[in-house]
Amino acid sequence: MSRPLRTPQDLIEAGLAAPERRAELEAVAERYTLAIPPAMAELIDPDDPNDPIARQFVPSGAELETTLEERADPIGDLSHSPVEGIVHRYPDRVLLKAVHVCPVYCRFCFRREMIGPQGLGTLSPEALARALGYIAEHEEIWEVILTGGDPLVLSARRLAELIAPLGAIGHVQVVRIHSRVPVVEPERIDAELISALKASGRSTYVAVHANHPRELTAAARAACARLADSGIVLLGQSVLLKGVNDDPDTLAQLLRAMVETRIKPYYLHHPDLAPGTSHFRLSIEEGRKLVAGLRGRISGLCQPTYILDIPGGHGKASIGPSALVPRGDGCFTVTDFNGQEHVYPPAGTESA
Ligand code: SF4
Repeated sequence: MSRPLRTPQDLIEAGLAAPERRAELEAVAERYTLAIPPAMAELIDPDDPNDPIARQFVPSGAELETTLEERADPIGDLSHSPVEGIVHRYPDRVLLKAVHVCPVYCRFCFRREMIGPQGLGTLSPEALARALGYIAEHEEIWEVILTGGDPLVLSARRLAELIAPLGAIGHVQVVRIHSRVPVVEPERIDAELISALKASGRSTYVAVHANHPRELTAAARAACARLADSGIVLLGQSVLLKGVNDDPDTLAQLLRAMVETRIKPYYLHHPDLAPGTSHFRLSIEEGRKLVAGLRGRISGLCQPTYILDIPGGHGKASIGPSALVPRGDGCFTVTDFNGQEHVYPPAGTESA
């Protein structure tokens, strides 16, 4: 396989969908963009109807069912956008969304109404200049997060045009790039692209999106090694998805695979209320149970923060289970990794 699969016909010819599904696939592809690059298409087991890679990338008729609570802009980007391309939700950081295309289109994407060829497009040079002007004028902005879409679909030259000016803005100290590319198109991570990711004198972080341990192939691990060897810090972000990673073994393998690859697991997102994605959502109680189970099972290095983006643009909230519950008498009940409860501070502590 040498090119991305972009149409239902491509999927059928590649053996990743039965011909009887053509009408269903076409109806979905008309509404939401489809692309599966070779590295991901080759990972799919066509004989497994529940393949977790296929579930993430091959369209399903369930995407045409929008539930009452779902919304086109689930995390409220648009209501926090002071100029085109910027989302300014928290005081010390902004999102810079220069591009709205991706190398792969995740069927659960939280920005699915904004991305793809019919989406918000790529910032024009004038709009980019206005966005950089906004960052320069706001001295409270310490971190700029490049997202989209996937910024790493841009050429090294375009990325340099975007990132190098950030190095000239004194108050911007950190540049963070959110991307699927190291996993889904690892061959793109070459020396020229890596060099373009670094703003002079600034720290660069790349948040790598992966949801299943199989995504961290040898090629993906090698791409991440190239980034890490260059001094870029790697963070992991994953979405907790029904039928993909909602079991303790898969989650543990994913998080361990990240740490082995020098990716520090950062966020485990509860799925957002994007249209046509209810088949991916588990309940928060189910999510908390899974996350609680990770605590004693895998190293602290592997533990992500379980996060909910509050609908409406109110930011992220940590929703993981708490080990500490107030008892009402000034003490707490604290639960250890075996599920046993203890009182803190312990009664009757002897003084020396
Ligand atoms: S890579 Fe990110 S922005 Fe692109 S489709 Fe997947 S979740 Fe959405």
